[in-house]
Amino acid sequence: MAGIYIHIPFCKQACHYCDFHFSTSLKYKDDMLKAINREILLQKNFLQNEKIETIYFGGGTPSLLTSDEINKITEQIQRYYIADELVEVTLETNPDDLSSQKIAALKHTPVNRFSIGIQSFFNEDLKWMNRAHQAKEAEFAIKASQDAGFENLTVDLIYGYPLLTKEKWDLNINQVLAMDIPHVSCYSMTVEPKTALASFIKKGIDKNMDDTKSAEQFLHLSAKLQENGFEHYEISNFAKGNKYSVHNTNYWRGVKYLGIGPSAHSFDGKDRQWNIANNALYMQSLGKDNIPAEKEFLSPKDRVNEYIMTALRTMWGLDLNKINSDFPVFKAEISKNMNQFFEKDWIEEKDNHIILTTKGKLYADHIAAELFIEDGF
Ligand code: SF4
Repeated sequence: MAGIYIHIPFCKQACHYCDFHFSTSLKYKDDMLKAINREILLQKNFLQNEKIETIYFGGGTPSLLTSDEINKITEQIQRYYIADELVEVTLETNPDDLSSQKIAALKHTPVNRFSIGIQSFFNEDLKWMNRAHQAKEAEFAIKASQDAGFENLTVDLIYGYPLLTKEKWDLNINQVLAMDIPHVSCYSMTVEPKTALASFIKKGIDKNMDDTKSAEQFLHLSAKLQENGFEHYEISNFAKGNKYSVHNTNYWRGVKYLGIGPSAHSFDGKDRQWNIANNALYMQSLGKDNIPAEKEFLSPKDRVNEYIMTALRTMWGLDLNKINSDFPVFKAEISKNMNQFFEKDWIEEKDNHIILTTKGKLYADHIAAELFIEDGF
């Protein structure tokens, strides 16, 4: 079982907070798609004949592709991989791309799940973020997708930024609840270096993010969605009716995946590799049948740290049986470092799994870092 991620590195405009890899010029879209289809062929042995369960089109903005372009990519995958029983094919979409015609055309592709970048239902907030869409388009995109039979929807929301009051955040959550969406991903606004947002804060044009407000909004979100039947199954992800993201859950469970496209990451069960984050160099290299990737060999220490980092963020938690069987040499050290967090009531043990408490979820990264096995252990 494995997944394939396709990175489409184009966006209409740059959101002020974003540090993903993309270009706002679509001039080389056709050449990029040729390179992507070429990489699919060249990487055909990477997953060692594992059955492909999920495909995830991310970016960038993959909803800029036509349904024909999406079909060409999925056909290429089905030509070279065992991918005839796909469980989940997700397309990240921006609301302004989801016209009725586009949605109807996407029904003729293997895509069966939309991840819609809503971020907020307030125009002033969308403008501040420099999103390309308006709140009305977001509402239309959700409704029109559902009407066309795309029921497996997830939407993204952002919290913790200066314009977002408690009242507005509550209205955003209410709007999602009213629209009967089975999956929500919510992210705290972070200020990444080299973004427009970082530069506005430096120049005093924008206020910095407020961690206390962000924590309050996170706790409100978690409580409210759980009251309404959602499971808080990963720090940033909520699902009801078992509509978990299969693709992302597989990442967190250490399942193999292949990333295609500039900046995409791959994992073969042991080691990681990542493609160059530069469109021109990526296309040039694929033109010569070279995959422009760097590889990182993961030591047992790297692997256990990665497991701690990802597993702890999920509601299934850190499996002590797995630590015992796969990483026995580190077990005593990890257990010793956990004690401080039991005392603070940030973690609890259930059926031999270590799980974050609600309070602990606010400190997930800090807890994971404290449990990491250090160099030279
Ligand atoms: S649309 Fe998505 S990938 Fe593109 S700039 Fe905005 S946040 Fe980044």
